[in-house]
Amino acid sequence: MTRLDTSQLLFTPIPERIERLQELAYNLWWSWHPEAQNLYRQIDPELWELVYHNPVKFLREVRQQRFAEASTNSAYLEQYDAVMNAFDAYMHTKDTWFNQHYPHAQEQQIAYFSAEFGLHESLPIYSGGLGILSGDHVKEASDMDLPFVAVGFIYPQGYFRQRIDQSGWQFAEYHKMNFADVSATPALTPDGHEVVVDVELPGRTIYAKVYRIQVGRVPLFLMDTDIHPNNPQDRELSARLYGGDQEMRISQEIVLGIGGVRALRKLGIHPTAWHMNEGHSAFLVLELARELVAQGMSFKEAVEQIKPHTVFTTHTPVPAGNDAFPFPMMEKFFVKYWPQLGISREEFLDIARQEQEWGPTFAMTALAISLSTYRNGVSKLHGHVARGMWQWLFPGKTQDEVPITSITNGVHTASWLAPELRQLYNAALGANWEDRLDDMDMWRKIHDVPDKTLWDIRQQLRRNMVQFARERTRQRFTTMGQPPAIWPVLEDHVLTLGFARRFATYKRATLMFKDLERLKAILNNPRRPIQIIFAGKAHPRDDPGKHFIQDVYQLSMQPGLSGRIIFLEEYDIAVGRELVKGVDVWLNNPRRPHEASGTSGQKASLNGVPNLSILDGWWPEAYNGRNGWAIGEEREYDNQDEQDWNDAQSLYQLLEEEVAPAFYERDADGVSTRWMQICKEAIATCAPQFSMRRMIADYTNMFYMPAATIT
Ligand SMILES: *Cc1c(COP(=O)(O)O)cnc(C)c1O
Repeated sequence: MTRLDTSQLLFTPIPERIERLQELAYNLWWSWHPEAQNLYRQIDPELWELVYHNPVKFLREVRQQRFAEASTNSAYLEQYDAVMNAFDAYMHTKDTWFNQHYPHAQEQQIAYFSAEFGLHESLPIYSGGLGILSGDHVKEASDMDLPFVAVGFIYPQGYFRQRIDQSGWQFAEYHKMNFADVSATPALTPDGHEVVVDVELPGRTIYAKVYRIQVGRVPLFLMDTDIHPNNPQDRELSARLYGGDQEMRISQEIVLGIGGVRALRKLGIHPTAWHMNEGHSAFLVLELARELVAQGMSFKEAVEQIKPHTVFTTHTPVPAGNDAFPFPMMEKFFVKYWPQLGISREEFLDIARQEQEWGPTFAMTALAISLSTYRNGVSKLHGHVARGMWQWLFPGKTQDEVPITSITNGVHTASWLAPELRQLYNAALGANWEDRLDDMDMWRKIHDVPDKTLWDIRQQLRRNMVQFARERTRQRFTTMGQPPAIWPVLEDHVLTLGFARRFATYKRATLMFKDLERLKAILNNPRRPIQIIFAGKAHPRDDPGKHFIQDVYQLSMQPGLSGRIIFLEEYDIAVGRELVKGVDVWLNNPRRPHEASGTSGQKASLNGVPNLSILDGWWPEAYNGRNGWAIGEEREYDNQDEQDWNDAQSLYQLLEEEVAPAFYERDADGVSTRWMQICKEAIATCAPQFSMRRMIADYTNMFYMPAATIT
């Protein structure tokens, strides 16, 4: 474990009795244990909000007096001891999933590479679904005690913060992160030296410093190029996530893939399985080959040696979303590299040659597929789409024979579950339910919970979320100097839909506005009103996506819609967490089959929030007619307008005839038993099957262990 050199950090001195608050701040275990976060929050709730739930920053800024009070408060100390005991037990237990299932595999090592990691709102090194998935993956790998390390970038300016101007146009703000405020420490070699790796870019060597973030039992190694002696441009290379042009991108991917392997070597880590989460890191296989060629193998022999140990997950059913670099660019960046692989220019370019209208490109997905053995899409439907997309790499095979399987995504239960529901599950599912997260039979016990009990919690969660949304809205209008037309926005007891996701056009955020008059009638039905909360960012270069935001924003100001529809700025993990636990229905209406999996709806169902969704991504596997609703038909369209129109009609009809009537039905206790049936069924069917526990068990059984143990 990394020893912390605190001498360089200026902390408020912590009383000895509670000094482990500092140690805890440097292990992201706190990020999925609300009771650990409470140890900080209780000391100074306002400061906790001001530092955006970041314990390291909190410890640097808290006033000494507050510490003194806490350290003599017996109720506080009791909680402190309980949390520290739980933390120690977690870190030291040998009774873990991995030890039970693979008692003789301790010497194995799985390395997981991803361009982004979404772990907590205070660490903005993620943009959306891919990052959240990686973050959840690392947390669950820790919970299950996999021999696992993760590799990525620390982006000192992160992904952008979203601001919306008065016309509804999105603009981006970047804030520079202060490393002293982050729970990252310099990664150290076995003999205690800091790690800097170098890779060649055209005409220069670039250096990256390696940081370590401890995520429970798992280390996450993050590279940063903002160091001496890089030139100013190279120092900016890892500044922002997905910023810059294609040259910037290929440079980042070279540092991630090639630099990442070199970082692990310097750290003395020798993985037996390598997982590329999306194609961004696929250059790592070239580096593994280069190592073997340097030892005297031919490139072909090297590939044969490496391939049984590599795992690749594709996430992108849209061709334009897959990175592919033009050949002249590849030449510029790799002219000195292919001789080190012992192959010619042609042989090198052929590894991942993809023919396109404008000429051949080097496709990262093709590279990853060609040099891996274990490959998957992220839902059954996406697996099928991916087999079609990459069929050309397997001449002579039919689509069904293409060797790309699927492992459907899941979510890290503890990170997304409302604390109020966690208490309920503690009581309803049995004491050790968190060790059996993927146990379908166990989750069926949720049906024994009295309707009124669950109903009351769901009411409370909605009220909390409405409060949160109002506060966010108020803050925004305070800084913009323009109050909303209707205040307060939203109502406490109205059926609330949530729609929060990236504003990519295929996600069709504006679908429900196809027929404005019908929508207004639905939302303002006096007996069965509905309100909707929107949130989401468009990629900084995606103007069509920004126009969708603007449309939603402007529509939310219209008479008949204002007060009932709001757009929340800055969708991030904190906003996501509030929404998935607080709304009543999670809406998703992408243009089928463009949603690879989608995970926000999985977070919602685990909180008893049913999905109202197109049968795309994960939803066809989950939907059973009783745990939510399916919009539209399970079919493909040639005509997009026709598809949009039909899907919108289906959405309206479901809201009018199914969703609102079920919600507003009330028995003598003021409870909708029909609604509770749907909520419980959503929990019972989705929580186990779409848990990160089930997902990692699949990866481990199907990929990691076969890859690691082959010789
Ligand atoms: C879960 C999550 C996502 C991904 O959700 P999708 O359903 O895949 O769109 C994106 N952003 C945040 C902040 C999330 O929490």
